[in-house]
Amino acid sequence: MRIIFIGPPGAGKGTQAARLVSHFDIPHVSTGDMFRAAVKAGTDMGKLADEYMRAGNLVPDDVTVGIVRDRLNEDDAKAGVLLDGFPRTVPQAEALEAMLNAEGMAIDAVVLLEVPDDLIVDRIVGRRSDPETGAIYHLQFNPPPAEIMDRLVHRKDDTEEAVRSRLAAYHAQTAPIIPFYEEKALVKRVDGVGTPDEVTERIIKALS
Ligand code: AMP
Repeated sequence: MRIIFIGPPGAGKGTQAARLVSHFDIPHVSTGDMFRAAVKAGTDMGKLADEYMRAGNLVPDDVTVGIVRDRLNEDDAKAGVLLDGFPRTVPQAEALEAMLNAEGMAIDAVVLLEVPDDLIVDRIVGRRSDPETGAIYHLQFNPPPAEIMDRLVHRKDDTEEAVRSRLAAYHAQTAPIIPFYEEKALVKRVDGVGTPDEVTERIIKALS
């Protein structure tokens, strides 16, 4: 099963992706996670990506397509994959299509997680993640246990200013890939407003 996960920043893609990869037993390929790992490791690519990410802008397509190509060539990604945060532009979608076609592979479904813009800023600014478990919390909507509070991380691009740029990038650059996949009848629209369990249930139902 090859699934693409699309949605605005803060729609809950990271939380839901973690659940879906264990449900479908496929690897989770998140370009955002790969860029954050490169930033942490201090590689040249990480330094370049960091500048775009801090401002809430998209990393250039050639860099992004390159890391995805390398990742999809790894053995564990041959049988299936959950692509989270990629593609995010029409040229990325076209590059992915060409990569998969060359291997005789195709996308099975595109899950579009829908959350209205006015809920996004609150969701993102209160978001914190646990570097030890990867769990994602929200200070108000999904409060973390008090004993792990000190180790929680607030993403550098989870500020109100960066969120507004990320939302603008989503509408200008990512939303145009929806018609690209709608033409192929692959898009499953899922309401992302609700508890994480409710949303997981909706996604699994949409994919079954
Ligand atoms: P995410 O964790 O998916 O919200 O991604 C965080 C940031 O990483 C984005 O705001 C972009 O700066 C960068 N990024 C992640 N995926 C992509 C992509 N497919 N194309 C360009 N930039 C990306």
